[in-house]
This record gives sequence, C-alpha cells and structure tokens, in this order.
Amino acid sequence: MKSSNGNGTIATRSDGPLSVQHVAFDANGNMPLSEQERQAMIEQLEHKFAEVMDILRIDRTSDPNSRETPRRLARMWVNELFIGRYTPPPPVTIFPNRREVNELIISKGIKVMSVCSHHWQPISGTCTIGYMPDKSIIGLSKLTRIVEWFSRRGQIQEEMGEQIADYLEELLRPRALGVIISAKHYCMIARGVEADHEHSDMVTSVMRGQLQHDANLRNEFLRLAIP
Ligand SMILES: [Zn+2]
Repeated sequence: MKSSNGNGTIATRSDGPLSVQHVAFDANGNMPLSEQERQAMIEQLEHKFAEVMDILRIDRTSDPNSRETPRRLARMWVNELFIGRYTPPPPVTIFPNRREVNELIISKGIKVMSVCSHHWQPISGTCTIGYMPDKSIIGLSKLTRIVEWFSRRGQIQEEMGEQIADYLEELLRPRALGVIISAKHYCMIARGVEADHEHSDMVTSVMRGQLQHDANLRNEFLRLAIP
C-alpha cells in the first residue's frame, strides 16, 4: 500500500496489519494510522518513557508529580505534538474563482506550534500565506488547518514552509503563492544559545509562481504580510 507523506514523496508500507515499530518514515512525513494503532503506540511509549525517567533517576512511584508522567507524555506526543504524522490531511473545500479575482489574498497570524526534529523542543510562531488565485480559491480557515497538519510533526522550519507551499500549489494551482513563517525555537532559547528572547525569531519565506518572478508583486506581498 502506498500513501503520500504530504511533501511530494511516496512512503511505502507492506500490506497486512501495520506493525508500528517496524515502519519508519521522516519526522515530518505523514502516514495515517488507525485509532487502534495509535493506542498501541501510546502503550508502548508509556513503558519507554518510564524507562527514560528511571535512567534519569526520577522517582515516579512516590513523587506525586511524576507518577502519571509516562502516560501523559505518551499521549501528548502521539495525540498532539506528532498528530500530523498519523492523521490524513484535513478536509478542504475548494471554490471556483467566479469573480476572477487576480489580487493577492493574504491570511496573517496563522498559529504555528511545532517541534524541532533535532532537539524535540517547541517551535512557536506564526505563518502568513498569500496567494493570487487562478481558477480556485480556498476558505481561509482551511489554511489554518493545513498549517496545523504540517506543523504537528517533528519539523525543520525551512522544510515546513516548503511542504505547505507544495501542498497549496497542488491544491489550488495559484498564479502566485508565498509562505512566510516567523518562529521562536526553544532549543535555542532553552539551551541558552540565544539568550535574548526578542531576537531569537527565525524567518523563512517561500515564493512561488509570479511572486518568484515579479519584484513589484513580491514587495507588495511583503509590505502586506509583515506588520
Ligand atoms: Zn532544535
């Protein structure tokens, strides 16, 4: 059985019941799992997190704050922080561009809550998406869902922007598309690599179609996108 991992490449898994421990794919890839498969994953993880805590010499029998932590961690990683790896893409309705809009449509301040693949620490920020439609337009709330689906994985900010742009390009075939992400990386903040909170934002931008080739349009987008 084959399934798209959401960034244009194909992941393959053998037929028959999925053995979660034997099928590996990129941290920011996607392969939907059933509810039962996710539940099995949580149970396996709970034991492993308990082992990790034992190695770290955290007393999880008498410390009331640590007693349920392996289960909490297992649920949080599978059902929240990495849920975009295990669920199909959000349902999206595409509408015809009946009025032949040929201006930029921009959605700002879309929440980005992700996890860095390198250190498994939060990446927190916002995404701005702008596009000039051709034949299709999309509801703005759907952009939020798409960004969430890609960000709830182990990510690298640069690749997340490219994944979102690839997905929207395929979905909408827009004349122009821009994806700007600005985010704080807690692996930097927590480790003291960048002590100054205010200046630890990373900004990435992806420009496609006319935004790549037309400097005036790109300037307009950047002026509207960046507060
Ligand atoms: Zn990191």
